[in-house]
Amino acid sequence: MLIAGNWKMHKGPGETAAFCAGLWELIGELEGVDVVLAPPFVSLHAAVEELEDSGIRVYAQNVHWAEEGAFTGEVSRSMLIASGVAGAIVGHSERRQYFGETDETTAQRAAAALEAGLGVIACVGETLEEREEGETEDVLRRQVGAIAEAIPEPDAALAVAYEPVWAIGTGKTATPEMAREAHALVKSIYPVERVLYGGSVKPENAEELLSQEDVDGALVGGASLEVDSFTAICETAARLNRS
Ligand code: PEP
Repeated sequence: MLIAGNWKMHKGPGETAAFCAGLWELIGELEGVDVVLAPPFVSLHAAVEELEDSGIRVYAQNVHWAEEGAFTGEVSRSMLIASGVAGAIVGHSERRQYFGETDETTAQRAAAALEAGLGVIACVGETLEEREEGETEDVLRRQVGAIAEAIPEPDAALAVAYEPVWAIGTGKTATPEMAREAHALVKSIYPVERVLYGGSVKPENAEELLSQEDVDGALVGGASLEVDSFTAICETAARLNRS
């Protein structure tokens, strides 16, 4: 199982260092779960330094496909690698919604990051309108299809996160059945090893969601900002993984 915390635009370097020290103390010995933290770019260094030798991996929240160039505001794969970063999230719905990220750029970012040896969490998921219009399957086929086209042979470094957009940061969660169905669909389209669920995962609903077939972990936003709630989710994953 993989539990990843997406901090979005929260926590500068000081707060990041304090959080990471506390997290390592609490989950340092946890087995059966891979833990990833994705702080903002400016806090990556603090996280990498604090978590060195901890087994907790640090991911960026985005990565560009080019080696270098005129791409204001972007960060390259080699810059991340040189900073000790182990991977990147790509295609998060907030990037798609507010910053023009498309299926194609998401796939391009994912393919380039994997090629450089980085881990990748590639996000997909339907909006509320699309779900209500009965378009969830078509949307997932299109989004996952673009990733499959760019990366015909997925390896263990790639995880897909199914994040229904209507469940992100809203307190609304997909029912366990919805998650199971969507995850099975993703795996039927593309033989990726891990499909993570994302959308208002908290300590209270983690067990129900993570115990579903084909749910191989979680991408956690809000609940990853507190050491206690993030630790509780990681502990649930570790417990389920062993049983
Ligand atoms: C996310 O940012 O990917 C996310 C799932 O956020 P939240 O857990 O707050 O819904």
